[in-house]
Amino acid sequence: MKDLGRLTDKFAGEVVRPSDPGYDAARVVWNGMIDRYPALIVRPTTTEDVSMAIRFARERELTLAVRCGGHSIPGFSTCDDGIVIDLSRMRGARVDPQARVARVGGGALLGELDDAAQQHGLVCPVGVVSHTGVGGLTLGGGMGRLQRRFGLTIDNLVAVDLVTASGQLVRASADEQPELFWGLRGAGANFGVATAFEFRLQRLEGSVTHGVVMHPAERAEDLAERYRELVVDGSDAVWASFGVGLALPAEDYPPELAGNPVTYVAVLHSGPADDAERDLTALRGLTGAAIDSIETKPYLTTQRLSDDATAWGHRFSMRSNFLNSLPDGVVSGWTERAAAIPRGASGGYSVWSCGGAMAAVRDEDTAFTGRDARFWASAEIQWDELELDDACRAWGRSALIEAQPYESEGRYVNDVAEVGRDLARTIYGDDKYERLRALKREWDPDNVFRLNQNIRP
Ligand SMILES: Cc1cc2nc3c(=O)[nH]c(=O)nc-3n(C[C@H](O)[C@H](O)[C@H](O)COP(=O)(O)OP(=O)(O)OC[C@H]3O[C@@H](n4cnc5c(N)ncnc54)[C@H](O)[C@@H]3O)c2cc1C
Repeated sequence: MKDLGRLTDKFAGEVVRPSDPGYDAARVVWNGMIDRYPALIVRPTTTEDVSMAIRFARERELTLAVRCGGHSIPGFSTCDDGIVIDLSRMRGARVDPQARVARVGGGALLGELDDAAQQHGLVCPVGVVSHTGVGGLTLGGGMGRLQRRFGLTIDNLVAVDLVTASGQLVRASADEQPELFWGLRGAGANFGVATAFEFRLQRLEGSVTHGVVMHPAERAEDLAERYRELVVDGSDAVWASFGVGLALPAEDYPPELAGNPVTYVAVLHSGPADDAERDLTALRGLTGAAIDSIETKPYLTTQRLSDDATAWGHRFSMRSNFLNSLPDGVVSGWTERAAAIPRGASGGYSVWSCGGAMAAVRDEDTAFTGRDARFWASAEIQWDELELDDACRAWGRSALIEAQPYESEGRYVNDVAEVGRDLARTIYGDDKYERLRALKREWDPDNVFRLNQNIRP
């Protein structure tokens, strides 16, 4: 690339060019559907490096992608012909147990934050797969198994160090650049490169009650009824996910379920074991469960249970929305659709309980939009064969039709897999979109950070 020397002279990090042996490994992102060829991948080690990389990209009018964990479903953290700022050399999580604060690198993965916090009996509520990036997850909101008890990840965010489009380092918090801090909590990929996050930590000693009850899909409506009883007005220590899907890979399931449509509720109870026993009695009392794996286990174990099933490289698509209610008609429609997942693919539906601490923060207090929902629902599909692309995408497109009449306001930006001009408006609603636009004009008027659900300046 022309003038590359101007960057490499002072840049302390790593630079990977298309001719370098590590290039193919460096350009890969989590979703196997995404296959792009950047002109340059840079791995900064300091905020000065980040600033240099932004200036370099701007001077050459190169498309700029920013990568933390690389899990963006539509592939926002890579590009063709542009430059990728890969933050994987700016990882790490340091905990101050007295202050109950964690300082986390802009390229860190969730597992690093979980491990560092749990060493002190502390936790920051984050997502459910440990190889997801703290960066993308936090800047979009951060949903997970502790959201009803401790809120979203952004509800525990104290400050962000951000290198802006002009290459300057700013700190955003409730007291410093508060409007920017508002926008970073839900639309954060639009405003700069976050080089560090500070999180307030909550107390959570090592053990939780966690597991799954699973039944053949014919019992989906009965199980949904128990699920609603458990989560609507239930304890905030309970997070639960209701699902319908295929029991795949078949070898992981008992013969009566293997490969067939199933229904399940996964729970995490973060209160004392006796409370968990009491709160989960009705759910576990539905007769005929083929699997009941609910037991006490370390919180950190639960945070890694889905890591292998969601490993890098599979082809993946999803749709999600927030719901006011989960009527039986929706559940029965999903049961039929789950049975129609193309052969060779795996997937299904999952519904997460919202409310509690997530709803205790006013919707207007952060850019994240959707706090008033009772449920978050998603349809996810994963496959490996290129030939299945059309069939799998077609399944995904219509997967949530039955739920449309029950949708509530907002969408979760981090799992909007579609790309298109006006999507951000539907994610945040008109009022917030205009507020975000004013912020974008102030901090990134040239739309340098546009590989995201874009707020157009
Ligand atoms: C397997 C899997 C499990 C998931 N589980 C959950 C879950 O439990 N809860 C949940 O809420 N979400 C979950 N998600 C969605 C996840 O939050 C988003 O995919 C998120 O964008 C991933 O962040 P990342 O850093 O890994 O991704 P990247 O692809 O690296 O980044 C995603 C976006 O954020 C921007 N970005 C990332 N880091 C920075 C930074 N430091 N500064 C500025 N911009 C940055 C990127 O430019 C890009 O636009 C999951 C996704 C996957 C694939």
